[in-house]
Amino acid sequence: MRATLPIALLCSAAVAAAQTPRRPTIGNAVRPYVAIDTPTVALTHVRVIDGTGAPAKADQTILIENGRITSLGDANQARVPAGAQVLDLTGKSVIPGFVMVHEHLFYPTGPGAYAYLDESFTRLYLAGGVTSMRTGGDMNGFGDLGIKRAIDRGEKPGPWIDATAPYLEGPGLNLPQVHELTDANDARRMVDFWSSMGATSLKAYMHITRDELKAAIDEGHKHGMKTTGHLCSVTYREAASLGIDNLEHGFFAATDFVPDKKPDVCPGQNAGQASVAAVDPSSQAVKSLIAELVKRHVAMTSTLTVFETLAPGRPMPPGLDVLVPELRDLFQQRYDAAQRNPRGAMATLLPKARQLEVDFFRAGGMLLAGTDPTGGGGVIPGFSNQRAVELLVESGLTPLEAIKVATSNGATYLGRTNVGSLAVGKQADLVVIDGDPSARIDDIRKVSMVFKEGVGYDPAKLIASVRGKVGLF
Ligand SMILES: [Zn+2]
Repeated sequence: MRATLPIALLCSAAVAAAQTPRRPTIGNAVRPYVAIDTPTVALTHVRVIDGTGAPAKADQTILIENGRITSLGDANQARVPAGAQVLDLTGKSVIPGFVMVHEHLFYPTGPGAYAYLDESFTRLYLAGGVTSMRTGGDMNGFGDLGIKRAIDRGEKPGPWIDATAPYLEGPGLNLPQVHELTDANDARRMVDFWSSMGATSLKAYMHITRDELKAAIDEGHKHGMKTTGHLCSVTYREAASLGIDNLEHGFFAATDFVPDKKPDVCPGQNAGQASVAAVDPSSQAVKSLIAELVKRHVAMTSTLTVFETLAPGRPMPPGLDVLVPELRDLFQQRYDAAQRNPRGAMATLLPKARQLEVDFFRAGGMLLAGTDPTGGGGVIPGFSNQRAVELLVESGLTPLEAIKVATSNGATYLGRTNVGSLAVGKQADLVVIDGDPSARIDDIRKVSMVFKEGVGYDPAKLIASVRGKVGLF
């Protein structure tokens, strides 16, 4: 009998904890970037773009209590409790926080060299409106996991992170920090290990075999992990039949159209890209591949931002002034080289691949968005996430469709039903924008505040803290 009372107390405490949403911890390193930290916040007279693709609604009020949206509706009927912090957002819009799925915490600093820039990148992602992200493959192993946990503990500002395990890759990449799989058992072992360490997603790379990929996908599913791929040795059709969940880089990495493609062999990135540049989007081969991907519910991540930096005739990407001067110069040289090569492979590949992404979306495919801050550099976290949405609109999606791809589609893919759209009961992850991105997509750059779990962050302060220093930390 002596044990009864403490157990009863313990149980009621547990029930209370489940009913009252936990307020996020804000540590000393996060505090300087926080603009709003009251339990009850009313965003009044704001245009709501809810992330589902539904039309924007004017003059709404959103009530945030303890990190959740507890009411959302017409401003003139809204109940604003006494003690709420009221922000009059007349003329502004809110969208859900971005849920972006091909992000990285490293940046190219030279041939085969990458700097791990977790500190500056996570601040920039949050400043750009990214409140949830999947790292799209890991070079470092424990780095993404460590930074994810530090953010969750409130020790660093940044988005919620779905941490992907190190690349699942066979011999061929020639990067010493990437493990080379030997067979299917090795793939299973690697998946089990990284799952046990806390990784929650898997990424296959260009030289994996079908056997290894199949083993990784199946083992991952046992652990509740989805597998994505930047493929080459395995075609999109083969990967779909093996049960892959997601394909990276739209159709840029498809080798389905390479003549005489040998099974399990990567014909080289250039051969793959040349074959995609040459396909006829209205051909049976393309239509049947898209239909197969849609039928098997394979998602596809658009990463147009990284390809744009390699193509001629494209504008300089946004946000370069955050880089240290050496990295800015390095990118400028690469950009100039692309401009001097107006008939380079990317000149025909970029428009073709963009059309194929839109065709996939129009066929009912689950299109996701990411930025991939690798390649030749110039893809700056946060800024490029906004650019990714602009590029989807330039490709042919409506602004509402592009916002849906960058928010609720990402959340649906990651199985995070509490974020990605704006509705009563959802976590208060949302972005305040000066203007109306449902009418003018370039307004998406005018982010004035980012809420994550109901805490409002100041993007200007986050960006100022790293300006001119990205490359150092
Ligand atoms: Zn990547």
